[in-house]
Amino acid sequence: MTVDPMPPGWTSLDGTMQPAESIAAYAARVQTVKGACRDAICNRRVTLDPKVLCGHGLGRLRIAQVKRLFSCGRIDGCRLDWHNEPAENPLRLDQFIGRANVRIRVSCRGKGCTFFRVWKVEQMIAGLQRRKVGDGRTEVDKLPALMSAPCAVCKRTSWDVAVLWVSEQTMGWRQLGERTFDRVGHGGGV
Ligand SMILES: [Zn+2]
Ligand SMILES: [Zn+2]
Repeated sequence: MTVDPMPPGWTSLDGTMQPAESIAAYAARVQTVKGACRDAICNRRVTLDPKVLCGHGLGRLRIAQVKRLFSCGRIDGCRLDWHNEPAENPLRLDQFIGRANVRIRVSCRGKGCTFFRVWKVEQMIAGLQRRKVGDGRTEVDKLPALMSAPCAVCKRTSWDVAVLWVSEQTMGWRQLGERTFDRVGHGGGV
């Protein structure tokens, strides 16, 4: 049994969930990466299918390393512009139901504003259902666009959403449990 299982393809950086950078992680998220060369003569189009790359044994390489393998061999250098396609297996709120070590942090993107609020996943889902804009199947990436209330401090309506993940293996969690999140603080009502 895996301890502290995080959804595959994700990692925790400073307590915040981030997409992991390995090819295997891209495969777990079912996330294709595409490149297009900006050079008018070259005009190359490249598609990196992480599942295929894993089949070639490249799963443990980071995406940046693999991009280098595909660079244009032009004398002037590579002009490939890369972008990630949306993940076909994105994070959804219901993946975190019942997880005491997870919170959703909604923070204001207003310039110089530090207002934020931390929600339990169940509270977030209930709020979306009440406003009839989402439910447990709602993707985490879609949440900022669904936050319609202005910031209590700067009155702007521009939100960032992050998933906070505290490892249950840490001494802090064993001592404090969910009170760990009290340290994060509360910014007030969104
Ligand atoms: Zn090129
Ligand atoms: Zn604000």
